[in-house]
Amino acid sequence: MKKPEIPENEEQRLRALGDYQILDTLPEKDYDDITRLASAICDTPISLISLVDEQRQFFKSHHGLEASETMRDYSFCAHAIHNPDDIMLVSDSRKDERFADNPLVEGNPFVVFYAGVPLITPEGYALGTLCSIDTKPRTLNQQQIDALKCLSRQVVHLLELRKKNRQLLDAQQQLKDNAKFMEEFAYMAAHDMKEPLRMVKSFMLLLRKRHTEKWDDTDKKYINFAINGAERMENLLMDLLEYAKAGVVTTHNEQTDLNPLIQEVVELITSEEMGKQPLILFSDLPIVATSKTPLKLLFQNLISNAIKYQQKDAQAQVKISSEQTDTHWKFNITDNGIGIKEEYLQSIFDPFTRLHNRQEYHGSGLGLASCKKIVERCGGTIWAVSEEGKGSTFYFTIAKK
Ligand code: ADP
Repeated sequence: MKKPEIPENEEQRLRALGDYQILDTLPEKDYDDITRLASAICDTPISLISLVDEQRQFFKSHHGLEASETMRDYSFCAHAIHNPDDIMLVSDSRKDERFADNPLVEGNPFVVFYAGVPLITPEGYALGTLCSIDTKPRTLNQQQIDALKCLSRQVVHLLELRKKNRQLLDAQQQLKDNAKFMEEFAYMAAHDMKEPLRMVKSFMLLLRKRHTEKWDDTDKKYINFAINGAERMENLLMDLLEYAKAGVVTTHNEQTDLNPLIQEVVELITSEEMGKQPLILFSDLPIVATSKTPLKLLFQNLISNAIKYQQKDAQAQVKISSEQTDTHWKFNITDNGIGIKEEYLQSIFDPFTRLHNRQEYHGSGLGLASCKKIVERCGGTIWAVSEEGKGSTFYFTIAKK
């Protein structure tokens, strides 16, 4: 018997094999189908997908054989990978000096005939083989050889798919981690900025109150600008904090009756309303299995937008209704406001997207982004339908369980 030699590029080859994270994984149907097919095509009792590791060969699939690995020193496949471009055919291993006294030839599983096609990665590394084995002397015809080569390429495709899938999942996780970090960072930054800002604002207010005789009209204008700026910054920080927190507190253990909740929201919003009092209609809203705090924020943002984005001096009319499917509650909030151009119906849910300047309508552009986050954490989706100049309807769903 001759021990298989170690390929020149062994270090890189093993690294490439490691990258697939396939060693010691459980059997999978896709790979087992290939070995079954290989045995059917070659008419052999055994077919293997063998991956040549440092000290052993690991069988990702082993049709007709119990063992899931054997020592590399006895491996036929470890010989086959030395000629990556071709199939290795051994018609009768008992007459081949490389294998004659190999324990796998002399004992179980009594390998006599061996046909192994190397599994070559796109970078050219031979990871192992797809091989077919018989316990009697044999050969293969050209059709069988071609079919075995096709199947070996399919094994590599499966391995590549597995690797790409994993890379995608890793990238997704990385994105999630980054987003979480950014959220925590925004929360911390907004939280820490609140206090010094409050100080700036209170001292500016004090200044405006105390030395009125000293200030001429321009000075007063400047002080008012500063106070106004601080107030806007305060609102923005509050919205940022709300956005960072949105959805985190969602649980399905709490039952929330939406009728009193909307009543509370309406009272809060209309008490701040300076112009014409809005008409807000709702009835028979359900009790849902979601915590009150995020739901309140969600309805508060949508209803206050429905009132805010209104033509000057018009009376806002808002209608809130609900319907259900087997799995979800669906809510509609319809207004008679200024409407939204079709091309912005998606982007309004992105953070900081505003369609108007703050002289026209105040805001931070975080309200709908917070709504989206809450709805998604509740297992639903949010979208809007609108006609410019006529009004909009915001729809969202939340999962019942
Ligand atoms: P903002 O703080 O600006 O209100 P939102 O995230 O709540 O931020 O909304 C984003 C943008 O979507 C708003 O600036 C506005 O242009 C548009 N919008 C939201 N709700 C309505 C609505 N009911 N009618 C018309 N436009 C709306």
